Amino acid sequence: MSTSGLSTQGVCILGSTGTIGVNTLDVIKRHPEKYNVVALTANQADEKLYQQCVEFKPEYAVLVNADAAQRLKEKIDKAGLNTEVLSGVESLEKVAGLDNVHQVMAAIVGAAGLLPTLAAARAGKRILLANKEALVMSGDIFIKEVEKHQAELLPIDSEHNAIFQCMPSHFEKGLEAAGVNKILLTASGGPFRTRSIDTLHDVTPEEAVAHPNWVMGQKISVDSATMMNKGLEVIEACWLFNTKPEMIQVVLHSQSIIHSMVSYTDGSVLAQMGNPDMRTPIAHAMAWPERIPSGVEPLDIFDVAKLEFEKPDFKRFPCLAMAYEALNEGGTSTTILNAANEIAVDAFLNKKLSFTNISRVIEKTLENITKIDADNLQIILQADSDARQVSEDWVKQLEFKR
Ligand code: NAD
Ligand code: MG
Repeated sequence: MSTSGLSTQGVCILGSTGTIGVNTLDVIKRHPEKYNVVALTANQADEKLYQQCVEFKPEYAVLVNADAAQRLKEKIDKAGLNTEVLSGVESLEKVAGLDNVHQVMAAIVGAAGLLPTLAAARAGKRILLANKEALVMSGDIFIKEVEKHQAELLPIDSEHNAIFQCMPSHFEKGLEAAGVNKILLTASGGPFRTRSIDTLHDVTPEEAVAHPNWVMGQKISVDSATMMNKGLEVIEACWLFNTKPEMIQVVLHSQSIIHSMVSYTDGSVLAQMGNPDMRTPIAHAMAWPERIPSGVEPLDIFDVAKLEFEKPDFKRFPCLAMAYEALNEGGTSTTILNAANEIAVDAFLNKKLSFTNISRVIEKTLENITKIDADNLQIILQADSDARQVSEDWVKQLEFKR
């Protein structure tokens, strides 16, 4: 499938009210002749989704929460819009597989994105993958479904999109055969890269979500502060580029101008650069293999002036080390890691857990559950649910008292 030619591409956005969803709509707005919004979905933000319906007039709008969906339906009816309102998780899967949808932006946060994104894979769509948790939970199964149904998987995560842009077209035959000897995955290091380790215990949610370079949803912002985000991205990169953890070097690069690099056997290192704005990877993946304007400010290289690189400190960021370990263990380890992280981050955001206890909850959960081979979806969903239960217990045990 290609976006070239005259046909307009139908787009479904899973998670349209989030940061990635809003940026996607901003790109689409610039190209009304190329993209047509078929379906928009969110969890429960009825007012925000209503405003998006007024502007983009989708055929379908889905809210998982039934009460919120009812409120949305009333507003849509009152405004006389021709949008059908649906609710429930199954409706996410339905709209991701509609015949007139060509591209599905997978931008739900967390494990909730797995089933609808899998539905898009099974329907053979172009998947614009922001929801890295889907690959972390079930990489093997997910990639097999993509291949079986000839879906197209294009990375939205800025690093993976950068790596994709720096890869030769034949990388799918194996990185070594393509002359690649290392992927250099950049990381900003988040807001606590230089803060004294002794004071990390007292970090507040407000401090943790204040990312120095990127504006993102709350969960990924906390993941950036613990660097679990980079751990999840190492796992994501292994699945997307069919490679092993030892091929991936995390590089701290606090300016967030280089979004990642690919190093080749002949000594070349290719980097993709740009202002830190998610509309670049979104526009790249939507239009690929073409290029379209995204609304992003051109990079002024003289303004940047300086690019710095450091090795990551695994002591400061134990979550990054745990992600490498889970990846090496394989099976359900990364599913457990992901679920425990979601529970711990949620508890931290709700002030029930201290910042440094996020990694302890994950560590304890990984220690207390036996990992098994992850060869079907049922096993994955069970491991996810077990890990959530165990980590909830650990949150209670470590409960933060101010
Ligand atoms: P966000 O919190 O801003 O938005 C999340 C969206 O998902 C919202 O539309 C919300 O309604 C929906 N949602 C939440 N829970 C849901 C549920 N249980 N069922 C259905 N829908 C649900 O998040 P975001 O920052 O846009 O991130 C979305 C995904 O993209 C995450 O997986 C994140 O890791 C990834 N990502 C984000 C960025 C970024 O810059 N924001 C960059 C790279 C990757
Ligand atoms: Mg990223």
